[in-house]
Amino acid sequence: MWLWRLRCMPKVTSIIFFFLICAILSGCTASTPNMTATLDWAVAGTYAALTLTPATTLTATNTATQTPAPTETPTPTQSPTNTPTVTFTPEPSSTPTTTQGSSDTGGWLIDLHVHTVCSDGDNTYEEMIQTALAFGIDLIAMTDHVWCEDVAEACRNETRLVCLPGQEVSPEKHILGIGLTGPVSAQQSYADIVAAIHAQGGLAIAAHPFLLPWRFDENELVNIGVDAMECWRSSYPEDDQRQQELTAQYGIPCVHNSDAHEIFDIGTRYMECSMEIHNLSELEQAIRGGYCQKKP
Ligand SMILES: [Zn+2]
Ligand SMILES: [Zn+2]
Repeated sequence: MWLWRLRCMPKVTSIIFFFLICAILSGCTASTPNMTATLDWAVAGTYAALTLTPATTLTATNTATQTPAPTETPTPTQSPTNTPTVTFTPEPSSTPTTTQGSSDTGGWLIDLHVHTVCSDGDNTYEEMIQTALAFGIDLIAMTDHVWCEDVAEACRNETRLVCLPGQEVSPEKHILGIGLTGPVSAQQSYADIVAAIHAQGGLAIAAHPFLLPWRFDENELVNIGVDAMECWRSSYPEDDQRQQELTAQYGIPCVHNSDAHEIFDIGTRYMECSMEIHNLSELEQAIRGGYCQKKP
């Protein structure tokens, strides 16, 4: 019965009780000096039992209090704040609109109407090109009133800027052929002149169509099939407005050229484009797409 009670006792009490029993039993059989030694041993044993138990609980609590370390894991939450940089990557795809042109703003400067001494100009091809380069023109078209093979040859081999050989076909009224490979006869109808320019893969532009005495009839202008027309070169201010209306109504884009007959004309009228133009197809895209603006 007492053994059953012993089992029911708390652990520490049962250990103390065990050592006391041992001391009493050993004291009955041993001498008195040994009795004190066994008592000391029993006391030391109980002390050890008492001091041991708290130690185990301490280590248990210590490890428990150190576990908060996982709460420092929030560092991964910083990665979502970094992800917005990914959303900026689409920007480079919009940059191709910027150009490496000669203007202060990086625009591509073009002049599609320039004469030389080959027809009624005062300066040579080289003098006109040198002046255009000094001004910052990126693309030029040589458009004498007749086909000049030596000018066309120099233009085709030009490396200092983009040069397109051309002709200002000039019966009574004038039509620019840009990007030609050979002469276009002026002895034919305006519609046929435009068709002949297109047959060479060139662009047909009505030159100063509202300027006297080379003024086009409006119906004629919109029906001969030109790709563009020179605007803001009218004999009457109200004609500038009329040309804008024709552009809106018939989709004939405006261009703006110097019609230079001498070096001092270079830079007086030109266009600044927001895309680079290296060939005829890019020129057509720039004009039709509205990439070029009147200057100055
Ligand atoms: Zn002309
Ligand atoms: Zn001209």
